[in-house]
Amino acid sequence: MNSRQKIRSVHALAPFALAVALALPGTSVAAGKAPKDQPATPAFFSGRPDTAAFRATEDAELRAAQSALDRMLAVKGKRTILNTLIPYNEVQLHTDNAAYGSSLLEAVHPDSAFRALAEQHTQRATKFSDDLSLNRAVYDALSQVDVSKADASTRYFHEKTLRDFRLAGVDRDEATRAAVSKLLEELTKTSQDFDRNIRQDSRTIQVDGPSALAGLPDDFIKAHPPGPDGKITLSIEYPDLVPVTRYAKNDDVRRRLMRESQNRAYPANMAVLDSLIAKRYRLAQMLGHPTWADYITQDKMIESAANAEDFIQRLRETTFKRAQDEYAVYLKRKQEDDPAATQVNRWEMSYYGRLIRMRDYDFDPQQARAYFPFERVKQGVLDATATMFGLTYKRVPDAAVWDPNVEVYEVYEGPKMLGRFFLDLHPRPGKYNHAAKFTIHQGVRGIQIPEHALVCNFPGGKPGDPGLMEHSDVETFFHEFGHLVHAILGGQGAWEPVAGTSTQRDFVEAPSQMLEEWCWNPKVLQTFARHYQTGEPIPTELVTKMRKADAFGRSIQISAQAFYSAVSLNIYNRPPTQVNTDAVVTTLEPRFSPVPTMPDTHMQTAFGHLDGYSAVYYTYMWSLVIAKDMFSRFDRNNLLDPTVARRYRDTVLAPGGSRPAKALVHEFLERDYDFKAFDEWLAGKG
Ligand SMILES: [Zn+2]
Repeated sequence: MNSRQKIRSVHALAPFALAVALALPGTSVAAGKAPKDQPATPAFFSGRPDTAAFRATEDAELRAAQSALDRMLAVKGKRTILNTLIPYNEVQLHTDNAAYGSSLLEAVHPDSAFRALAEQHTQRATKFSDDLSLNRAVYDALSQVDVSKADASTRYFHEKTLRDFRLAGVDRDEATRAAVSKLLEELTKTSQDFDRNIRQDSRTIQVDGPSALAGLPDDFIKAHPPGPDGKITLSIEYPDLVPVTRYAKNDDVRRRLMRESQNRAYPANMAVLDSLIAKRYRLAQMLGHPTWADYITQDKMIESAANAEDFIQRLRETTFKRAQDEYAVYLKRKQEDDPAATQVNRWEMSYYGRLIRMRDYDFDPQQARAYFPFERVKQGVLDATATMFGLTYKRVPDAAVWDPNVEVYEVYEGPKMLGRFFLDLHPRPGKYNHAAKFTIHQGVRGIQIPEHALVCNFPGGKPGDPGLMEHSDVETFFHEFGHLVHAILGGQGAWEPVAGTSTQRDFVEAPSQMLEEWCWNPKVLQTFARHYQTGEPIPTELVTKMRKADAFGRSIQISAQAFYSAVSLNIYNRPPTQVNTDAVVTTLEPRFSPVPTMPDTHMQTAFGHLDGYSAVYYTYMWSLVIAKDMFSRFDRNNLLDPTVARRYRDTVLAPGGSRPAKALVHEFLERDYDFKAFDEWLAGKG
């Protein structure tokens, strides 16, 4: 996931330096020099909440944004790139710095009072940003700038900015703009309610002693000792949920834990989601669009809600029949245990999936886990990407961070520092409980380096626990790191709003999903995946089996993604009076998935993407089509070879959002992308 959420910063910069840097397109003021844009790690990241420093930083950013805005609007006479577009870029940069910083801290800070404070700052920065998007004077000023002689990325930035203003409703009458502004303010809070309810509802179940954990790996059982009352507590967070649903023999333990997981944030988020849907619909209507889905898709690669619907339908057609065939295999296997069984339930899928893969593919994920202790995997991800992209990562020792478990790294290419990243990789109460890259700073050449954080929930991080990861965790790690390198390598340009991962939303999951491929490759895996006890590298044979086993159940998996995409689209592509989210889920699920809906659950209340991605969850599958095609250009026998990676870096990652995604992909592939590689992969090839 690439978090929509915005984040903060410390680095208040001299407006003059920005103007100079940007006034000289093609030259890099910072190049070669030790950049002054290397702020010390911000004090408020400290585990001890330093609210004063946080407030001061946030205030400074918004003051800098306001001052750039005033300067821009005060210009008399001819509008130019130097006197208008450059200060506008500065306004955006400071506003985003404020919003990114607070959004990160509301999701990760260990102190709940600090998280609440951060929420307030997010509201304020978002309001500043929303008001800016409706400011007619700013729009008029930008419209008057002649960019015809500027470079291509400046022309695109200018064109895109004006279009974004029109999409936001800047050209509507004053009454409409006032109503839009009020609605946006309410929406920010509704979004925060939705996200907070998910974050804070970390449920547990109690089971009766170690016998309830039969089937689970020994290290898991060891890490879950009974309490004084003899009961064992299991959490719905990934490090418990994934192994329990996969290995536990006790059907009731799996069912109970999954039931809680599928009811996270229920009932609290039922009304919040309804409110989110209703407000977004109202906003779309105010801005002259039939529905929110129509509104939100028009600047995406897919261009319209109707095209999104067609795409989801295409996914259904290519997967449904195969998913039914796969499901029949599951049922047959279950009937060996229970001859009277007529269906395989959701909480049984992972368990029977494993048994089938063991029997038919001779693959046991538990065997693979032993090769994925957390620390080795982390080093492996770092080393693989460093080799591919010609980078060096340097750990910053003793950096002040928001939690003692967070690690900080600087990214270098030769002597030049390109960016900095933060790794916050283990669960903690109240912390964001999915996996995402959060922005801290978008990089702007000569002004500020890109700074980003990976927030995940992997095993490990506790003394004595090797943190053995499921291969799916390893995949998530590579995925999120794909966002990170995109953000850092794409954060070296001139214009903040189109830096790094600020590309078209339905392209943003392509670089991340493509990097997942690296953790399926035996040669790459053998660089880091070593047995946690013997140190022996993962055998090629085991990887081969793992790959074959992975192809089984693929259609069920993709049909589930198509189902999620359909839920996301169908709650937003009609008037809210026609939307009952429970009914949408229960009606759509059987159309896409052979697995019966789990009774008395409400997955939509914890489906965080319904806020962040709203109607465009199809993005993952759309990006996957492109990822599979791009991957076809790499040499599978030598994935760490820097040659193709370098070209990919230059053509796709480095431009960030400064060109339409389709053009970037075309340049890398030397043709338009197509469905061929994706369809082959779906068919079990590749
Ligand atoms: Zn992602």
